[in-house]
Amino acid sequence: MKQPGSSLALVDRIIAGEPGAIARLISRAESRSAEAHEALARIYKLAGRAHVIGVTGVPGSGKSTLVGKLGAKLRKTGTKIGIVAIDPSSPYSGGAILGDRIRMTELGTDPGVYIRSMATRGATGGLAQATLDAVDILDVAGFDTIILETVGVGQDEVEIVRASHTTIVMSAPGLGDEVQAIKAGILEIADIHVVSKCDRSDANRTLVDLKQMLTVGTHTTPPSDWAPPVVGTSAISGQGLDELVAAIDRHRRHAFETKAGEKRRLAIAQFRLRKTAENLLLDRFGEAASCASAPLAVKLMKREADPYSLANELLQSSLMPESRHEQGARSKIA
Ligand code: GDP
Repeated sequence: MKQPGSSLALVDRIIAGEPGAIARLISRAESRSAEAHEALARIYKLAGRAHVIGVTGVPGSGKSTLVGKLGAKLRKTGTKIGIVAIDPSSPYSGGAILGDRIRMTELGTDPGVYIRSMATRGATGGLAQATLDAVDILDVAGFDTIILETVGVGQDEVEIVRASHTTIVMSAPGLGDEVQAIKAGILEIADIHVVSKCDRSDANRTLVDLKQMLTVGTHTTPPSDWAPPVVGTSAISGQGLDELVAAIDRHRRHAFETKAGEKRRLAIAQFRLRKTAENLLLDRFGEAASCASAPLAVKLMKREADPYSLANELLQSSLMPESRHEQGARSKIA
């Protein structure tokens, strides 16, 4: 039933591209509201049209600046852009959050652009699921290209950015004498490498180092039908932006039209299925365990039983058999 204010009632408004409805359903996905499951299930079935681009790199490598420039360039061709910024910063650590930094660029007031920050703080494992739900919501709302931006430091964030069709890894001169992506362990996830700040005289060194690292790497990785290009860009002169747009477009075709691309999309689906199942399991366990654990804890405290057997008992009583309520909810979605 589409009760006014319910998540299900938001779906039609999202299809119509209403920003308020988009924001509300993303927030409900973020808070893992069970009420939103049916709406998100609908959204999933309607989505699948947009090209999802992941952008990652260490702080200061020029991600926000590039996303701003890239977004503006793509907008000139009429492409509608959604941007989801995975944001590790907190109001206490200082520094503007990624989404706000992009908002400050020329994209800020364009209705063909939707920018959303997702906080990593406090997101216990549900971040990947909520992010991918947000991507689908923007897809259904009519955004053609969705850029997922992360700092690329935590394992969670690297996994999320890998769940895009095309992954861009940023490097920049002046952030230490090594290519930072190597240190951060994200070099091998790139479909396209970008070296930003090519207006600087030391950028050439970064370009040369990176290309050298990639040649060394090809001896250890199996041959693939996509060789990640290295594109040098400058946000100041605009150098390299056309080349980057062309590389993105080539990789989009690779992602959607080749066997290798299909394999990647299957890996993304597997990742998503696992994350969703993990979250359902945790939610179900959390609710049931809070009631069941007290008497078991008494036994544990008195050393009448060991933690392993009691934990097994807790798992069994909490997870199985599944409650009728959940079965009912699932059959409604199907
Ligand atoms: P992020 O932390 O990866 O999002 O990096 P930012 O986009 O915030 O950029 C970090 C700094 O590098 C900022 O001071 C930018 O103005 C600067 N920057 C970004 N791109 C370029 C560029 O192409 N050339 C130059 N010279 N500076 C840049």
